[in-house]
Amino acid sequence: MGVCIFCEIIAGRAKASVVHADDSVVAILDHKPATAGHVLVIPRTHVAGLADADDAIGTAIWRAARRVSAALRASGLRCEGVRLSLADGEAAGQDVFHLHLHVVPRYPGDGVVVTADWKKRSRDLLDQDAALIREALAGHPGQARS
Ligand SMILES: [Zn+2]
Repeated sequence: MGVCIFCEIIAGRAKASVVHADDSVVAILDHKPATAGHVLVIPRTHVAGLADADDAIGTAIWRAARRVSAALRASGLRCEGVRLSLADGEAAGQDVFHLHLHVVPRYPGDGVVVTADWKKRSRDLLDQDAALIREALAGHPGQARS
């Protein structure tokens, strides 16, 4: 495994523009922002993804993201709305495998594009999907298929 850039930043060995730091998280500006003020909230503990992030980490990044969101709206940077996103896994677009929550200032005409097929799914298929997820939540994945 290579060096984790976020761990390097947290350790002070790599540069970042820090907007917030506490015992649990560090929040920095994305060096390739979707819009100016695009923040990454990063837990100090190295966890790759959601499966490794316990509720304490979740609470810490959520608390920081809410504070940062309010600060962005008050900052003077253009921010009329905020989009939170978290990519868990390469297929989801995760690029750094140290969990991080994006806090993106949004405004009309900001050029940010979030796209998908958005095709309507039938109620039957929605109910089948829901059954699979409920089974997995109950610890019995796949049983609803039979
Ligand atoms: Zn790391």
